[in-house]
This record gives sequence, C-alpha cells and structure tokens, in this order.
Amino acid sequence: EHVANQIAAGEVIERPSSVVKELVENSLDAGSTRINVAIEEGGLQLIRVTDNGSGIETEDCEVAFFRHATSKIGSGKDLFQIRTLGFRGEALPSIAAVAKVECVTSPERTGLGRKLVIEGGSVKAFEETAASRGTDMTVKELFYNTPARLKYMKTIQTELGHISDYLYRSAMAHPQVAFTLRHNGSVLLQTLGNGDLLQVIAAVYGTAVAKTMLPIQAENADYTLQGYISRPDMTRSNRQAITMILNGRTIRNYSVSNAILGAYHTLLPINRYPVVCLHIGMDPALVDVNVHPAKLEVRFSMEQELTRFVEEQVRSVLRGQVL
Ligand code: ADP
Ligand code: MG
Repeated sequence: EHVANQIAAGEVIERPSSVVKELVENSLDAGSTRINVAIEEGGLQLIRVTDNGSGIETEDCEVAFFRHATSKIGSGKDLFQIRTLGFRGEALPSIAAVAKVECVTSPERTGLGRKLVIEGGSVKAFEETAASRGTDMTVKELFYNTPARLKYMKTIQTELGHISDYLYRSAMAHPQVAFTLRHNGSVLLQTLGNGDLLQVIAAVYGTAVAKTMLPIQAENADYTLQGYISRPDMTRSNRQAITMILNGRTIRNYSVSNAILGAYHTLLPINRYPVVCLHIGMDPALVDVNVHPAKLEVRFSMEQELTRFVEEQVRSVLRGQVL
C-alpha cells in the first residue's frame, strides 16, 4: 500500500511547488480569505500553508489523507461542472506518502481542533489541540523516503522560483484573498485581499509597473474579460509575465497567449513581451479541465472564438497608445 502510494504520489507531487499548489488550492476551495505560505530551503526542508477557511471536521481528518477521499464531487455529472480547484482526492495522500505532515485544523471558533501527524503514509498521532478556525498544514522533509526523487531536485533558488511563480499567479487569480509568501523568514509577497487586482500586480511586479498598466474590460454573449495589460513601452525580455485566469483558475493556453502577443506584435520589438494579467470568464461546461493532471493546460470548445475576442480587445486597448 505504501509503495503504491509513493508511486502514485510521483504523478501528483513532482517537486516542492506541487505541494504548495495542492495545499493552496485546498485552502482556496475551503473559502479562505487569508492564506500564509512559509517555505524553508526552497520547500525541501519545510512548507507550511496556514488558512482561515472551513477547516476539516474531526471525523474527516484521517479520511482526507487516504486515496480518493475528496469531498468535492457529489456525482459523475459534477465532473463536467467543476468550479472548485481540487476534485481528485489525490493530493493529501500523495503528499503524506512522501513527507512528514502535520495538520492542525478546526472547523469551529471554539479554540479547539485536531492535530494529525503522518509520516511516510502512517498516522503517528491524532489528538485534540488548541487551534483557531481553519487549517495549518506543515510538510517537512519532502521526499525523505524517496531518495531517487530527491536527486532530481534542482537548486533551492530554482525550486523557490517555481513556488513563487505559482503563488504570484494564484494571488492574481484571487485578489480577494490576502496572500503572504515567506522564504527563510523574508517576505516575498504580500497582498491585501481587498479585491484590487492592481494592488496584487504592484505586489508582484512592483508599483512602477503597476502604475503604467492599462485596464482591459469587455464582454460579449460568451465571455467576460477583465484585467490589465502593459503599455507597449513597458515590456520585459521574457514571456513569463503573461498570466491568464479562466473562471478563477490559472491556465496555460497557447492559442490565447499567442493572440495577446499577436495584438502587440506590430508595436513591440522582437524579444519584448508584455505584462498581462487577464481574467477570462466563460461557461464552465465548455471548459475541459481534465486535460492534464496538473490542470494547467486546458482546452475549451470555441477556442477560436475566444482567441479572436481576446486579440480584438487587446488591440483596441492598445490602439491610441503612443510609443
Ligand atoms: P481534493 O482537493 O481533490 O478533494 P485533497 O487530497 O487535496 O483532495 O484533499 C482531501 C480533502 O481534505 C478535501 O476534499 C477537503 O475536504 C479536505 N481538505 C484538505 N485541505 C483542506 C483545507 N485547507 N481546508 C479544508 N478542508 C481541507
Ligand atoms: Mg486538493
């Protein structure tokens, strides 16, 4: 059983940033308005995600760490109407199989909760403890029992880069949630959670960049677009700064990001890329989020229509911008 869990874990938990992603998505699914992430040594030593969400009921605590114990799908039909981020019930068992996990959680405001300690998939302790409402997950010594996996880890800086990249995008996807990211004690990201996307952009890219961003806002019968795009003279040397969020979920989609670049094309020198943060809304029934287990690359019906709409709207915002 443990071996099977470790093997399966490799598919979900590739590196420290996968843990951060799964824990933060759970916090978001739990309706948290504040999510604090603390990392040590690129996440290989410690990853701690603390939220003020719904917490986990005592009788569900242990269950949550066993395979396919998702509380998020009621029926097969729900698979086609997914609105929450997690829906496979694989994350916690996978993390618990390859790390030392401590989960302190409380669904109430009584000041009391539960502490569950799991190491390499085995429950070490389950006891009552002082806890505020929400969940506090600590993941230590990731891959301590899978040395082969540990060998594939890159430098602390690289692993941290993956984590901060994910968190920056999450913060932009959820401006109504207050995020902090600390690495070895220093603050790398702090957002207010007041719903102001521009504040989040300032926290991620700096106030100088945020000040010059152009708002984009449009809708037609099928899509809504809302966000900010950079002025053609305020661009960067790589395309990492294009963030697309579809129905609250950060996505990668080649054709939409190319449409954005296409709109900038005549205005930008080669090798310059815009800063873009674009929220796209559309009917979730038209989105296939099950394309890849990491749930990043998504497909949708009417991809061409969306692509055309995005390109048109970005063009129209850029029109009239003097270089
Ligand atoms: P999934 O998110 O796909 O349902 P996970 O393995 O990530 O599966 O989590 C298992 C279950 O544990 C969730 O369905 C949820 O009920 C519970 N859970 C995990 N993390 C949290 C959290 N931070 N707050 C509240 N509930 C949580
Ligand atoms: Mg999950």
